[in-house]
Amino acid sequence: MGDARLLDPAALDKKRSPRGRVSIVVPTAWLREGARLDVAVPAKLRCDLCDGGGCDACERSGAYRVEETKVAVTLPRVTDDVLALRVTNPFAEREPTMLVVRIAAGNEASAGVTYVGPNHDVEPRIGNLPPLPKVPFWLPYVFLAVFAAILGLATRHC
Ligand SMILES: [Zn+2]
Repeated sequence: MGDARLLDPAALDKKRSPRGRVSIVVPTAWLREGARLDVAVPAKLRCDLCDGGGCDACERSGAYRVEETKVAVTLPRVTDDVLALRVTNPFAEREPTMLVVRIAAGNEASAGVTYVGPNHDVEPRIGNLPPLPKVPFWLPYVFLAVFAAILGLATRHC
């Protein structure tokens, strides 16, 4: 057996890995449709474990100093107005090793949030609408011709 302490769940709980947090607001439609976003991460990133109060993971500072960067976030298609996503290793090898993105629906996206494109991971849900009947391309011309013939007959009788 190796080092037993590493297998102790209580010990693992104590050593919580550093986890930063950003909170953003996006238009409700982005949550309903799904979207790919770029989210600007500030240089001073709030610690998600202690909510900025200071803990072992953030060395009592309540925040992590990171290089200002943008993190790609894929919004799932949801009916919720509030959710949180986890992005693992947003800063490559550097801490924090996890970023929690708290998302709330609003009227417009908060500063630093850029819409990149639709979320292609989810298939658009069209529902159970029946397919449109296929109309031959010449059908409208037949109606026009009949209509013109009737019109012609009508004017001849005048
Ligand atoms: Zn902390």
